Amino acid sequence: MQPLFHFLLALVLTLAATQPPQSKQPVKSACGTDLPQQQITAELARRQMHKLAAAVTPSPNNPVYLPLAIHLTRPDNGSSNWLTNPNLDVIVRDVNQLWAASGIQFFIYGDVDYINSTFWTYIPDRKDNENALRRVNSDPNAINLYFTDLEFWAGISSYSAAEDQGILLDYESVYVDGANVIAHELGHYLDLYHTHDAPLGPECPNGTACATTGDLVCDTPADPGLYNPITEVSRVNESCVYDNSAPLPANCDQTPYNPPVYNLMSYSLHTCRREFTPGQISRALQTLNAVSNRVPLLTSGAHYVDPKASGANTQCSYQAPCNSLAKALAVSTYGQAILLKPGTYQTPSFKGKNVTLLKWGNSGLIELRP
Ligand SMILES: [Zn+2]
Repeated sequence: MQPLFHFLLALVLTLAATQPPQSKQPVKSACGTDLPQQQITAELARRQMHKLAAAVTPSPNNPVYLPLAIHLTRPDNGSSNWLTNPNLDVIVRDVNQLWAASGIQFFIYGDVDYINSTFWTYIPDRKDNENALRRVNSDPNAINLYFTDLEFWAGISSYSAAEDQGILLDYESVYVDGANVIAHELGHYLDLYHTHDAPLGPECPNGTACATTGDLVCDTPADPGLYNPITEVSRVNESCVYDNSAPLPANCDQTPYNPPVYNLMSYSLHTCRREFTPGQISRALQTLNAVSNRVPLLTSGAHYVDPKASGANTQCSYQAPCNSLAKALAVSTYGQAILLKPGTYQTPSFKGKNVTLLKWGNSGLIELRP
């Protein structure tokens, strides 16, 4: 297994290194996420009900943790395990880095699901094939990530209103630029659009009507689309500078485009993509707090412990943490995470319960005492 892995990694790196230097993306760099009519209908309804209207402030020092169910497709005989758990841990760590400012973090929920079926190791560029994979061993408590060989795309996510839920990821692209691709697809999962998308109508570069046009977020300037996955032409150079090549849209004034070249939801070069704006972060948090099939993610995977919390709290939720590890363990089920604020804890008997212990927040030490 190991030599094969090294060989594949070396091959991918060589391929990446031999790309022409100008404006080239990694192999299969583009996102295949569909914007279905149901999603547009949902956005119109939310707008009418002012549902995602109130801004939400992130808590990066007190993040919420969302569960990721990992599915790895492999051939019938279970060989060719391209990704191993340490790789996954590194990828999730890097994804969390990219999401850090949002106060949203992710963890691997339960055991990795190995799908030993050659049939699922290659997914042609067809919606029915993609959706069929999304139904394999799907875990209702988590965001399901399926690693496979996608014919054309680096990743394919699902918006909240999509019929079949789950994120498909291309092995090869994940090796080249895993965290970037996954962070982007998780953005879609929390109803962030591409900065060049326009579900309710195009946005003018001058930003008028920014809340109801373009990606529906005001601090991501109008974006003409920075990369064409078919022609492989990028409008951004290696220094992340937009080349001014897009014609201005009709019915707008002459304000030039100033697209968000560093944005994780743009089609800028992967090496340039590194940030979400406060408006996007607020929208992702709004989605988590208000959209019916996203709200359960806040409670389905994690319990929270803060030694300073009220002793009366027993459910160990984000809003009402417990004050001891034992209480959190008592309410945890298989695969969940327990988030601990820094402090000293009496180690309870785990009695074979499979949970992940994680640090909640980013300062101080955690000590477990027998
Ligand atoms: Zn995308």
